[in-house]
Amino acid sequence: MRTGIEVDEARRLVLEGAEPLPAEVVATADARGRVLAAALQATRTIPPAACSAMDGYALRTDDLASATRSAPRRLALAFEVPAGGRAPRPLRPGEAARIFTGAALPEGADSVVMQEDAEGEGAEVAFFGPAARGEHVRAAGEDVRAGEVVLAAGCRLGAAQLGVLAALGKSQVRVHRRPRVAILSGGDELVEPDEDVSGGRIVASNAYALAAQCAEAGATTLNLGIARDTPEELARCLAAGQDADVLVSSAGVSVGDHDHVRPVLQGLGCRLVFWGVEMKPGYPITFGRFEGGRGPRVFGLPGNPVSAMVTFELFVRPLLLRLAGHSVLTRPRVRAVLAETLRKRAGRVHFVRVTLARDGERLVARSTGNQSSGVLRSMALAQGLLVFPAAAAELAAGTLADVQVLDPDVLAAPDPINAADGRSR
Ligand code: AMP
Ligand code: MG
Repeated sequence: MRTGIEVDEARRLVLEGAEPLPAEVVATADARGRVLAAALQATRTIPPAACSAMDGYALRTDDLASATRSAPRRLALAFEVPAGGRAPRPLRPGEAARIFTGAALPEGADSVVMQEDAEGEGAEVAFFGPAARGEHVRAAGEDVRAGEVVLAAGCRLGAAQLGVLAALGKSQVRVHRRPRVAILSGGDELVEPDEDVSGGRIVASNAYALAAQCAEAGATTLNLGIARDTPEELARCLAAGQDADVLVSSAGVSVGDHDHVRPVLQGLGCRLVFWGVEMKPGYPITFGRFEGGRGPRVFGLPGNPVSAMVTFELFVRPLLLRLAGHSVLTRPRVRAVLAETLRKRAGRVHFVRVTLARDGERLVARSTGNQSSGVLRSMALAQGLLVFPAAAAELAAGTLADVQVLDPDVLAAPDPINAADGRSR
């Protein structure tokens, strides 16, 4: 087991050998946020034939060559093509067809004049100027051609991608399976939110925050509940998470008399890959794997709520994204100007909870206040994690620092429709 390693090395070890989970078929309607397991090749052409982009008249461009306002050209109204309909016959010279948006262009027609620019008069239609060939016509295949790869493997399915799938007739889609995460809280002092907290008891809030972090990363969760601080109960609860892809336990990874997580994991056959990452908060984070690829990857996160959330953010989230098939595993990073001077002891990298405010073109980072790893409010207020480099002891006000953006709303351009303080309500 490695100990006292750097953040980047720990992340490398967590991701080592991690591959996207096998594919499964899901309804396209339920596939938002999932990742395509195989490239999507179009089996149809869209639009299948040239069609009108306007309500108006389909005609032969050459017929209007001499049309002017003072000497309009009158064409015989031959037939009507409704949206989704087809022309009964080809359009002959000297004819126009009434046509609606999305309707297939009659054979022989090569442009559409919008109805606002024409005047129907009984069996004839008057046009007051020439038309440009191809005007208001959507070419066959201008969106998609049969045989083309439209969505690449690994593509994340958002609204537009789901629309494309539906347009191509795919009501089902092959995506990577979502990671399953089992979450365990450990500690004699822990209770559920609706239980009595007298006598020094503490709500096991980590299970809520971590489950939400899992969901945001696209994973499903199984809450294994609260394990008391005995090796037997911990072993029983940890064993209940064996079918998950990832097991996330919080607390009990330090060096106290009641910190049984590491020996119990080893007793279950888990090989501890590392314990202790040179960072604050979150130093005691532990990561292990079962030999031969069976069993979940296991995280023993520190119990302090901020440490649990920050270590999840840095180590668990990238793994979940990798398992789900995503290629980008990190948050957006910005450079922000420090509003105040920050100090720490040189040695470990600190992840400082900051708010981010826009000041013209710049983003200004300000500490959320008390940075103790027990102050969960510092996470609730945080819009980013500012990286205070290991070697530095001071970051002066006015200098630039890297910030991992937790809340993408901070990147929104100022707009009067947003609430004055810029935060979602
Ligand atoms: P430990 O790692 O067991 O020493 O726990 C460190 C601190 O985190 C203690 O104050 C615990 O009460 C607190 N803690 C442990 N587990 C949780 C949890 N699931 N939710 C909230 N706080 C916790
Ligand atoms: Mg404890």
